[in-house]
Amino acid sequence: MSNKIKKFILPESEIPHYWYNIQADMVNKPMPPLHPGTKQPLKAEDLFPIFAEELSRQELDQTNTWIEIPEEVREMYKNYRSTPLVRAYGLEKAIGTPAHIYFKNESVSPIGSHKLNSALAQAYYCKQEGITNITTETGAGQWGAALSYAAKVFGLEAAVYQVKISYEQKPYRRSIMQTFGAQVTPSPSMSTRAGKDILTAHPNYQGSLGTAISEAIELAQTTPNCKYTLGSVLSHVALHQTIIGLEAEKQMEMANEYPDIVIGCFGGGSNFAGIAFPFMRHTILDGKKTRYIAAEPASCPKLTRGKFQYDFGDEAGYTPLLPMFTLGHNFSPANIHAGGLRYHGAGVIVSQLLKDGYMEAVDIKQLESFEAGTIFAQAEGIIPASESCHAIAAAINEAKKCKETGEEKVILFNLSGHGLLDMPSYDKYFSGDLQNYSLADEDIQKNLDEIGNLA
Ligand SMILES: *Cc1c(COP(=O)(O)O)cnc(C)c1O
Repeated sequence: MSNKIKKFILPESEIPHYWYNIQADMVNKPMPPLHPGTKQPLKAEDLFPIFAEELSRQELDQTNTWIEIPEEVREMYKNYRSTPLVRAYGLEKAIGTPAHIYFKNESVSPIGSHKLNSALAQAYYCKQEGITNITTETGAGQWGAALSYAAKVFGLEAAVYQVKISYEQKPYRRSIMQTFGAQVTPSPSMSTRAGKDILTAHPNYQGSLGTAISEAIELAQTTPNCKYTLGSVLSHVALHQTIIGLEAEKQMEMANEYPDIVIGCFGGGSNFAGIAFPFMRHTILDGKKTRYIAAEPASCPKLTRGKFQYDFGDEAGYTPLLPMFTLGHNFSPANIHAGGLRYHGAGVIVSQLLKDGYMEAVDIKQLESFEAGTIFAQAEGIIPASESCHAIAAAINEAKKCKETGEEKVILFNLSGHGLLDMPSYDKYFSGDLQNYSLADEDIQKNLDEIGNLA
């Protein structure tokens, strides 16, 4: 028997006490969010009507590098953290690569993805501030499930708008949210003005995260003692997810290695930020030459083919204007099965880092993502979420390059979630019913022309 160590876990005492705020270390800070009416830079107070106050402050904090994790949140983290760092010997063998591949397994969280890391923090701060109800949107249902559970933990009522296509394609996520006591509504719905408007114009609209966000914000604004929460894109969400990379840093040390390449799949940027930012700190501060790769779906290519400009975070234009790589808030992505990656824009921090050349982005076609997920499942015994398959595909592509050059690079990717509720999508892949979607440059440009210059 070999005595190779396969899995690295931290003792409870080593679970980080602080999140890492990369904004404090960035050379070029993200440009400020703008008030949609006045076009003036927003202050934290301007966000208080929508978000918990502490989350609003974290959102705009460009000075404090380390933000303490509240003890109540850290206690909840202990239920499933640290998550394992795993050396993917099986995958290395399947590809025949000399690269050393590691993955951080966020799928072991109670709800099956990284999303709980921020949901617990957000529900906690809301509770602290005397809020009783929280609203949110969800695509595939991962964020909704995480928030529903976190709300229950801290004694809050949760109302979730779920993108209609996911509500129909992934019915069990709805059941999970309901099990945790949340009220779930398919979006677009007739229960909000934003929903009514879009249904009137497009009666068969299958929904998008942008629309669901509009509905959830509207409900928060019209319900007393209620705040809105978001599972990705925003800087405070990225902050909470840095627990992933901070643990991974210590675990890579246990493995006596340091990553040459760090990879995460990319919806709005939170799990990518989570795994990448703590390592990127050493690139910014010490010039460490690590590559950071965000893997997005080819059908929703905001990082690789979008434009850096001010845009809204939602369909109806209720959010502040954010400086980001975007396909336009009016973008309606193809009905791919990686529901969590169907979002038109990228978070402001990641957008600035991409603009400044600190990171790269690749786009992955739908069939390639499921092929990669299947190879991984067979090699490692874990069925990955359809979103995570994009990170795996990017990792396999890098590992194959190492095979050609003979380089023993160290590749680290984030397994953002498991795919046990994505089996209908795998079924479609196996029966040949899935397709790749191509997006014409003209369509992207037309969309961006339509929104014009918003700032
Ligand atoms: C939501 C989700 C994503 C995409 O969101 P990010 O904020 O970009 O991380 C990726 N993987 C899984 C499993 C998800 O649930």
